[in-house]
Amino acid sequence: MADRKSNSKNNKKKRYNGNADEDFNPKFRKIRKKVCSMCANKELVLDYKNYDQMKKFVNEKGKILPRRATGACAKHQREITQAVKRARHIAILPYTQN
Ligand SMILES: [Zn+2]
Repeated sequence: MADRKSNSKNNKKKRYNGNADEDFNPKFRKIRKKVCSMCANKELVLDYKNYDQMKKFVNEKGKILPRRATGACAKHQREITQAVKRARHIAILPYTQN
């Protein structure tokens, strides 16, 4: 018991020694900056009639994926949303599944 207590105290001391990036901290995973695929590749044009392209932006339930999943910027996420809705209207994508 006594040993454990002293250990946890030591750990605390170690944690706040100012060397944050040396120790693994589960609170902050390695940050990988996402780049919007449509900003990176200007030739890539969103086409709501293209099923193979559109299906990447919805999950298995047919919901539109959030920005954190698509990696798109605000501008392109708005375009994705619009395109998915258009694709649903012309029955390329489902409104819902199961
Ligand atoms: Zn973008």
